[in-house]
Amino acid sequence: MTTEYEIRLDRERCDGIFACLVRDDRFVEATDGLATIEASDDSVASERTAETALVATFDDDRIDAARQAARACPVDAISVSGTDGGTDTTEADDE
Ligand code: SF4
Repeated sequence: MTTEYEIRLDRERCDGIFACLVRDDRFVEATDGLATIEASDDSVASERTAETALVATFDDDRIDAARQAARACPVDAISVSGTDGGTDTTEADDE
């Protein structure tokens, strides 16, 4: 089942730690040494660049990978939200 959701990467917060890359391969290292979203596949509905953030909307079954990347980011630079209004990002990690 596919889900439409948005990944927001705050490049101002990103510190180039790259914990996200191993959780979701859509996160890649940009030439400036920070993370970026490689949104080149067909599941991308839209992509835009806000002032300091990169926002990409996907419609696929990979929201869990995106959430894992968001949880792994030590500086909370990644947020994932469903386009149905729900936000699921910086949830507490109780594990
Ligand atoms: S884990 Fe966070 S800080 Fe590290 S590269 Fe990814 S977005 Fe940037």
